[in-house]
Amino acid sequence: MTGEGVVRVCLIEDDEDDYVLTRDLLAEIPNAHFDLRWVSSAASGVKEILAGDADVFLLDYRLGSETGLELLEIAVRHGCRAPVIMLTGQEDSGVDLEALKGGAADYLKKSELTAQLLERSIRYALERCRALEALRESEERYALSARGANDGLWVWDLKSDDIYFSDRWKSMLGFEEGEIGSNPDEWFSRVHVDDIDRLRSAIRLHRQGLSPHFESEHRMRNKDGDYRWMLSRGLAVRDVSGAAFRIAGSQTDITERKKAEEQLLHDAMHDGLTGLPNRTLFMDRLERAIWHGKRRHDYLFAILFIDLDRFKVINDSLGHVVGDSVLIDVSRRLQRCLRPNDTVARLGGDEFAVLLDDIDHVNDGARVAERVQSELRSAFVLGDQEMFTSASMGIALSTTGYERPQEMLRDAETAMYRAKTLGKARHEVFDKAMHAKAVAQLQMETDLRRAIERQELRVHYQPIVAMHGHRIVGFEALARWQRGDRLIQPSEFIGTAEDTGLILPIGQWVLNEACRQLKAWQKQFSYPLYVSVNLSARQFLQPMLVEQVKDAIDAAGVKPEDLTLEITESVVMQDPEEAVRLLKDLRELGVKLSIDDFGTGYSSLSTLHQFPFHVLKIDRSFVSGPGAESQKAGILRTIATLAGLLGLEVVVEGVETDDQLLRVQALQCGFAQGFLFSRPLDVRQVNEMLMAKPMIQLPERVRPHVAGH
Ligand code: C2E
Ligand code: MG
Ligand code: MG
Repeated sequence: MTGEGVVRVCLIEDDEDDYVLTRDLLAEIPNAHFDLRWVSSAASGVKEILAGDADVFLLDYRLGSETGLELLEIAVRHGCRAPVIMLTGQEDSGVDLEALKGGAADYLKKSELTAQLLERSIRYALERCRALEALRESEERYALSARGANDGLWVWDLKSDDIYFSDRWKSMLGFEEGEIGSNPDEWFSRVHVDDIDRLRSAIRLHRQGLSPHFESEHRMRNKDGDYRWMLSRGLAVRDVSGAAFRIAGSQTDITERKKAEEQLLHDAMHDGLTGLPNRTLFMDRLERAIWHGKRRHDYLFAILFIDLDRFKVINDSLGHVVGDSVLIDVSRRLQRCLRPNDTVARLGGDEFAVLLDDIDHVNDGARVAERVQSELRSAFVLGDQEMFTSASMGIALSTTGYERPQEMLRDAETAMYRAKTLGKARHEVFDKAMHAKAVAQLQMETDLRRAIERQELRVHYQPIVAMHGHRIVGFEALARWQRGDRLIQPSEFIGTAEDTGLILPIGQWVLNEACRQLKAWQKQFSYPLYVSVNLSARQFLQPMLVEQVKDAIDAAGVKPEDLTLEITESVVMQDPEEAVRLLKDLRELGVKLSIDDFGTGYSSLSTLHQFPFHVLKIDRSFVSGPGAESQKAGILRTIATLAGLLGLEVVVEGVETDDQLLRVQALQCGFAQGFLFSRPLDVRQVNEMLMAKPMIQLPERVRPHVAGH
C-alpha cells in the first residue's frame, strides 16, 4: 500500500460492465480510498503482475481464451507478493477450491458481490499478506544468519510432532544424514539430564506465547558419547488464535565459547600463580559458611590468616622467580594440611587464608595452625639453594558470631598481626581485647585525619648542642598534636600515621614548617643554625621525595646545607640498594643526611660506609637506657670511634643527667641532644632561649673548659 489509506487495486477483467460495477462498489466503501486500475486482457494482466505496482489484484476467472487460474499460476511463479482475489461467475462452481489451492487469497462470486464483501475480502487479504511477508522476512533472515554461522536447522511441526533436522544439525553431533529420524526424541534424548528440564520449559514458554522467541543453551551427547554445548534458538508460527503450530529454529555449537567462559570464570576466581582460590572465591565460600552457621547452630568453622615471615627478604634478595616458587611450594604444603572440604586461598602477596569447614572443636583451628607450621619447617629447596620460612597466623572462630565475611577475615588478620608482634612463627586466636585495640586504632586514624584538616599539628624543636661550649647549633623538629588542651606525643600517633599513609601529608607539612621556621630564626638571630627533620619509611620510599624536599627548601629560602634529614637505620636496611640510590639523590640537593637511632637496628658498623651519610645519631638507649653502664659505655665508645673513622659527625641522643654527660664528654664526640640541655620546646620558648643566649647553662660540675672560647 502506498500512502495513508490508499490501496492500489488492479482489476484484470475483460467485461466493461463488470469493471463499472466493481468501480462503483469500491467507491461506495466508506473511509477508504481505492486507486483502481483496470486492464482488460490477460496479456496486459500479466504485465501488471510482473510490474508489481498493485497492492491487490482482482482477477476475473474468465479472460477470453485463458482462465484466471493460468494468470494466478504466473503470479505465484514470479513471486508476486500482492494477494490475488479471484472473481467468478455463475457458471464457475468448483473453481473456488482450485483457486485457493493455486494461491489465491480469496474468491468472490460476482453475483453476490457487495461493497462490504469486497472491502472485507481486500482488507483480509492485505492483512494476511503483510503477516506472511513479515514471517517470510524473518525466516529469510534466520536462514541467512544460520547459514552464515554454520548452524544446524530444525523445523518442528507441532501438529504431527515431526521434526525436520537439517544435515548440518545431524553432522554437528557426528551423525550421517540417515542416522537420525524425525522424532523429537532424537533431540531430547541426547540432552544432558541436568539441562533437559531447562530446555523443555524454554520451549513450553515460547509455545504458550510467554517469550518472544525460544532460546536455550544445553549440552548434547554426540555420536562418540561426548557432550557438546549447543545453543538452540527458534520462533513459533501461530494461527489466528495465537496457537503455535510450528517452531523453526537453529542449533549452534558453542562448546568453545563455553570453555572460554568457564576459563574466564575460573581465572576470575583463582590466583594465577598458585592456582589456589583467590580472595573473591574465598570470601564467597566464607559468606556461605556464615550463612550456613546461622541456620545450624552446631555448625562450627574457623579461618586462618597466614602471612609468611621474612618473605620480603627472600623476594628481594633472591628475586621474584625464587619468591614465586616458594609461594607455589607453600601453597602445596598448605593443601597437604587440609581436608578436601577446606578451602585454602591466596589473598595476595605472601598472604594466604584457610577456611576450615564444619570443624568438631574450637581447638581445631589451632591444631591446623600447628600442622601448617611444621609443614613449613622443612627447607625449601630451589636449585642448589636451601631456604627456610615460617608463618605468622591469626585464627578467627565462628563462635564470635559474624555477620559478614569481611569482619571475620579482618579479625583473623588482626590476630595474625598480634602473632607477628609476639615474635612471629606462631599463631594467635582472635579475642575481644584485640578487637578493642583495632577499633581504637581505627578511631585514631579518623581523628588524625581530622587533626590534619583542623591544623592541630604543631612542631616542637629540641636543641642540638655542640659538646664544646654547649652552644646551640640546630634543632630537631618533632611533631606534636595539639588536641584540645592535650599535647599528644608522636609515639601515640606516628605509628598509625605510618600504617595509614597519613604520615605523607604530616611529614610534608613538618618539613615545610621546619624550613619556614628556620628561615625566620636565621633572619632574627645571627647565629648559624640548622634544622633536622625526621623522615619516615613511607616518606623515604615515596617517588616524589626529592622534589618535595627541594620545594620545601626553595619555598622557605633556606640553604640546603642548613637542612638535615634523619632516616632511621631500620628504614635504610629494609632495602639497602634502593636506599643508597635515594640518599645519593638527596645528597645532590645539598642537604645533610643523618642516620637516626643508630644501634637499634641490625646494620653492622661495617656496612655503614656504603651509605652517604653526614651525621650519625647514637640511640639514646646507649646513654640513658637500661642495662649495665660499663657495657653501654663500651658500645658507645665503639660506635663513636668508628663514626669518627668514617668521617661522620656524631650526635649523642638522650643525655639526661650530669653523669651521663660526663661519660659522653669522655668520648670526644661533637654534638649531643637530651633533656639535660633542653626538652623539645615550642616556638615561643625557643625564641626566648635564643634571645637570651644561644648557650645552654649547666651546673659547674659538667661545665666544659672553654678556654679561649
Ligand atoms: P627521634 O627521631 O629519635 O627523636 C628523638 C626523641 O627522643 C624525641 O621524642 C625526643 O623528645 C626524645 N628525647 C630527646 N632527648 C631525650 C632524653 O634525654 N631522654 C629521653 N628519654 N628522650 C629524649 P619524641 O618527640 O617523642 O619523638 C619520638 C619519635 O617520633 C622520634 O624519635 C621520631 O622517630 C618520631 N617523630 C617525631 N616527629 C616526627 C616527624 O615529624 N616525622 C617522623 N617521621 N617521625 C617523627
Ligand atoms: Mg630523629
Ligand atoms: Mg633518634
